[in-house]
Amino acid sequence: MRIGHGYDVHRLTEGRALILGGVKIPFDKGLLGHSDADVLTHAIADALLGAAALGDIGTHFPDTDPAYENADSLVLLSRVCVLLQDAGYAIGNIDSTVVAQAPKLKPHIPEMRKRIARACGVPTERVGVKATTEEHLGFTGSGAGIAAHAVCVIMEINGAD
Ligand code: MG
Repeated sequence: MRIGHGYDVHRLTEGRALILGGVKIPFDKGLLGHSDADVLTHAIADALLGAAALGDIGTHFPDTDPAYENADSLVLLSRVCVLLQDAGYAIGNIDSTVVAQAPKLKPHIPEMRKRIARACGVPTERVGVKATTEEHLGFTGSGAGIAAHAVCVIMEINGAD
């Protein structure tokens, strides 16, 4: 069994769609980035890659590569899961927290969990998504950006025992 951790931040800006966990969320701002800037999906991808010691999302999908411009991060996540599978790992579970002052994310969490689980090829029950604010403190509290944390457990499936 191996544990992974991922963390990501993207800046909020006008004129972009807000995509979290593959769900487009109605809001007057969106996250800035080369891909769709889905900060939650990026944190989860980094947790999975980290658990397998396979580097990070920036190594596999560089933001200097035009192929990933406005990329659907769920597609990148599914590619990460293929890398893990090829390395002989299966996902135990994923847990995550989005840190955002606004908008309210609770109504969107069931759909985020469903989409993340589908991208990873695991049952929805293995994917946790939570949301919190930082009580108006710091860059998430001021609305300058959104952060996401993720952890996961993966298991070796090709082990001798
Ligand atoms: Mg990112």
